[in-house]
Amino acid sequence: NQELLPPLVAMFPTPGIGHLIPMIEFAKRLNIRHNLLVTFIIPIDGPPSKAQTTVLASLPSGISHIFLPPVTLSDFPPDTKPESLMSITIFRSLPSLHQTLISLMTSHRLSALLVDLFSTDAFDIGVELNIPSYLYIPTTANNLCFALYLPQLDQQVQCEFREIPEPLNIPGCFAVHGKDLADPIQDRNSEAYKCFLHHVKRYKLFKGIIVNSFLELEPDALMFLQKNEPPIYPVGPLVNEDSTNNGFGFEVDFKWLDEQPRGSVLFVCFGSVGTHSSAQTDELAFGLEMSGQRFLWVLRCPNDKVASDSNFIANSNVDPFDFLPNGFIERTKNRGLVVPYWAPQAQILKHVSIGGFVSHCGWNSTLESLVNGVPLIAWPLYAEQKMNAVLLSEKVKVAIRPKIGENGLVERDEIASIVKRLMVGEEEKKIRNRVNELKVAASNALKENGSSTKKICELALKWKGVTMPI
Ligand code: UDP
Repeated sequence: NQELLPPLVAMFPTPGIGHLIPMIEFAKRLNIRHNLLVTFIIPIDGPPSKAQTTVLASLPSGISHIFLPPVTLSDFPPDTKPESLMSITIFRSLPSLHQTLISLMTSHRLSALLVDLFSTDAFDIGVELNIPSYLYIPTTANNLCFALYLPQLDQQVQCEFREIPEPLNIPGCFAVHGKDLADPIQDRNSEAYKCFLHHVKRYKLFKGIIVNSFLELEPDALMFLQKNEPPIYPVGPLVNEDSTNNGFGFEVDFKWLDEQPRGSVLFVCFGSVGTHSSAQTDELAFGLEMSGQRFLWVLRCPNDKVASDSNFIANSNVDPFDFLPNGFIERTKNRGLVVPYWAPQAQILKHVSIGGFVSHCGWNSTLESLVNGVPLIAWPLYAEQKMNAVLLSEKVKVAIRPKIGENGLVERDEIASIVKRLMVGEEEKKIRNRVNELKVAASNALKENGSSTKKICELALKWKGVTMPI
């Protein structure tokens, strides 16, 4: 009898460390606070990455993981978009997911199957095996509003969304220009778009949608979502706090950071895979130098010189310092620290010396910045980051967005000026007050009786089979 078996939540993340980490944070809350067992069932297309195994090895014993047999993708051309490859990996992993769930059901009662952005095809398996399926959204509630509305928008609009001059009117979401929508939305004939549309059409099928955000950060979008189906659970901001990703072999000199004045250092980092061209890297270097401000820069090789590889952490045999302007390190040595490839970001953003963050606006980076009250320079690169940048700079008002020059680059003068504006300008005070308000709101949401804590508790009790008093 299934009812007598211990409850277990199965999580099936989209491939890639960037999708695994946010789900892990949610799993930790369920396991540590509510003693709920969680198993990650992970689709892969090759050996697990070092980042994946490092992060998974650090988890409490109540959170286990199973890597599914790797699928092969060699029949797809090398220029296939990541969104498509992720979906294909998922799709080809469905038979082994099915088998794994059946085998887990011999020893556990599977009380929920949690999937995310691109793993929604697992929903059908949930139905077949009678496991309630939930969707985890690791990005903003505004993006979720857009995603839920896209099937309708797709019917209404014939041209590319970026060709529409006025901002789009999306229920629940701030006014957004088509050009600021996520990458897969930019070309409606592409496989990536079709794939995205396929997934978002399924979002409404789920028993509930869990979103890594909180009411004070996105009041309009969350209130709108709460009035509609399926039920929404804002559980954020869930961020990695223990810097388990510190173990990739790159050291950061925290002594240097300790010696800098409070709030004086600008942290510059573009997510787990973000890179720039050589020309942009040069502009950034000169801009930082000209700003006269202190900085800590996580430097990657230019993507027109060294093939960008999401696994560069493991393959870092090229020295990104070789691509810096001549004499840069020497000229900035008293106020700048450059770290190759990777730094323990969560730990750095917590440091009292950090006063600003040049970020690509990935949602994890954004939340890590907000929980520490660090204002941002919003420099989006890929995925849904342009929309996040609009949210941060125009709606939430905790970020400044640099202008892109006619040559497609953010030029050195612009960088120097914006860095000064953020670190020492008058504007800085307003932004800092606002970001500090959000820091407090974020911490309240996660307190004992906070809004997000209550939502996590509600789900945990449901999944443990405890009936809630009405
Ligand atoms: N990160 C890090 N060190 C780095 C770069 C990234 O620790 O040098 C972490 C960062 O703290 C965040 C994650 O990687 O938790 C990046 O996630 P995000 O959603 O911001 O961006 P993505 O990499 O998915 O584009």
